[in-house]
Amino acid sequence: SNNSIPVTADVTSFSGRSINEVRQDFPILARQVHGKPFVYLDSTASSQKPQSVIDALSDYYKNYNANVHRGVYEVSEEATAAMEKARVKIARFINARQSKQIIFTRNTTESINLVAHTWGSANIGRGDLIILTEMEHHSNLVPWQLLAQRTGARLEFVPVSDDGLLRLDIYAELLTQQPRLVACTQMSNVLGTINPVQEMIAQAHAAGALVLVDAAQSVPHLPVDVQALDADFLCFSAHKMLGPTGIGVLYGKKALLEAMPPFMGGGDMIRTVHLREFTANDLPWKFEAGTPAIAEAVGFGAAIDYLKALDMEAIRQHEREITAYALEKLQEVPDIKIYGPSADQRGGVISFTLPDIHPHDLASILDQEVGVAIRAGHHCAQPLMERYDLAATARASFYIYTIREEIDILVQGLQKAQEIFR
Ligand code: PLP
Repeated sequence: SNNSIPVTADVTSFSGRSINEVRQDFPILARQVHGKPFVYLDSTASSQKPQSVIDALSDYYKNYNANVHRGVYEVSEEATAAMEKARVKIARFINARQSKQIIFTRNTTESINLVAHTWGSANIGRGDLIILTEMEHHSNLVPWQLLAQRTGARLEFVPVSDDGLLRLDIYAELLTQQPRLVACTQMSNVLGTINPVQEMIAQAHAAGALVLVDAAQSVPHLPVDVQALDADFLCFSAHKMLGPTGIGVLYGKKALLEAMPPFMGGGDMIRTVHLREFTANDLPWKFEAGTPAIAEAVGFGAAIDYLKALDMEAIRQHEREITAYALEKLQEVPDIKIYGPSADQRGGVISFTLPDIHPHDLASILDQEVGVAIRAGHHCAQPLMERYDLAATARASFYIYTIREEIDILVQGLQKAQEIFR
């Protein structure tokens, strides 16, 4: 076995495959840090990659590397076909009606900036209201702050309750002020809260607003259906869902994307160019200026294949179980404070603090003493930290390969940290 941690307690199976078999697919899980088995509890920041994704990247570079949409030779056509096939897989994965509604960007951040620039510049004016929430990642705050600075738009925020839930009563009140847009995360990267975006979208539409869903944390962990949600825009990143860095997605309703002006100018996004003017290309290429992340698109397609084979419902179920286990097990750590809602209202993310130990010290003790990688800091959600009167939290997060034994090691490490600081 290439697994350093024996799997005993967790009996999860994904469409007939045990979690131990799944773990074997991730070469990095066999490595050690500071002489101990590597326990990776930071998938919310970026996931690990299975061998099939690593192989897809290397197969592309070894066997059919060429620029896309340009060459009329066989290898370029193969590269183009592979990239477009990945787009189709992604469209099916989130149930988009057409693959041209899948725009490749660099990441969630770029997808949100694209909408804020193009849709925002064309549709938002002085005094127009945009509704955000207090639990947004900086990626879903700063682009709207910049848009508000450019246009004089107003921003309002749905508050977060003490137990980490959106104040939907206040959301309903804000909707009576005729907002143009609601931009909201489907899952908090700090509290783990899963927001009821389907209902929120229906309410926003009834109030005449469009909705952008930050799905950076939801698409990797839950079944997401853009048509069932009726989302207007939805953004996510490959690197958080087993795929490569450097590629993400903007999904949009076709009529909206068609009406939006281009974002960046350059090759591929044009149909014709004259010295003083251009005509834009069709969707999706209108928003894909320059040579795209071809290998990364191919690897993203392999990641989708892998997730589909495991089944997103089974993944959600596994994360519900491992999160419930962790919430209970962490109670063995004296004086721990855990933020966010109960296990059935959250994904596999747990933020916590210990009195008198700074989260950064905790993270480095866990790394040194027990080989556990967690995150410490503001998690790119400083306003949420302010809401809880915190400078930072420690955060452990889980994915398909996380097992109970790893939670036990985390808890031992936290107890050790308390001994060191006593
Ligand atoms: N939104 C949320 C909720 C996130 O958790 C993240 C990543 O941490 C982002 C947006 C930004 O993703 P990326 O850095 O891939 O653009």
